[in-house]
Amino acid sequence: MELGQGCYRIDGIRHSSAYLLSGEGRWVVVDTGMKGHAKAILSFAQQLGLGLSGLKAILLTHRHMDHAGSVAPLLAQVPAAALYVHPADAPFVASGQVGPQQGWMAALFRIFGTFTRIPPVEESRPLQDGQILELAGWTLRVLHVPGHTAGSVAFLVTQLGALISGDAIVTRRGRAAPPPAPFTDDMDQARESLSRLTALSFEQLWPGHGDPIRSEAQKAVRALVDGFTAA
Ligand SMILES: [Zn+2]
Ligand SMILES: [Zn+2]
Repeated sequence: MELGQGCYRIDGIRHSSAYLLSGEGRWVVVDTGMKGHAKAILSFAQQLGLGLSGLKAILLTHRHMDHAGSVAPLLAQVPAAALYVHPADAPFVASGQVGPQQGWMAALFRIFGTFTRIPPVEESRPLQDGQILELAGWTLRVLHVPGHTAGSVAFLVTQLGALISGDAIVTRRGRAAPPPAPFTDDMDQARESLSRLTALSFEQLWPGHGDPIRSEAQKAVRALVDGFTAA
């Protein structure tokens, strides 16, 4: 699905969303889906006429298996690509034990241990709040939004006014929604991080789950936050 010139939600990723931003033959991906999606990502890029060597970076919104699951096989194909993760989530990606660690869902997942494991990736570059990344012709501002995980980040694509939110904000039936509680480490902190995002100016929301909001997304997030305070 094309979201802006050169920007896409990657087709063929199940259970979560991953995004591709391209320019001048170079490209980056934000999140990678569960295990087994490297092929889908590479063939999507190929259909756009993008070569393997054009993949410059993989950015992770957070460590969870439905976002970090295909990092290792992608890097195996394109070792020169840089992986960016927030330092609070990086050790989990390095060990492959990505969680969730908290909540009743974590207990359930421990029973099905392999489900919460991804192929580990030891090396990554750190993401920091306020950092500006210039990649494939796009300017991305990094926003640390802890709560869903300690190292959750969102990316503001400044040229498009598009907020890539990971699981810090998801959408359901066209509306903005908080991260799912059973998978969230600290729900209070997650709500606080989400509220802070309303201070930004953005038009589109590209979430980790659910359909993108293509216009007036800031209003949709504001309505969600107003709902917290009314409750
Ligand atoms: Zn998550
Ligand atoms: Zn997710």
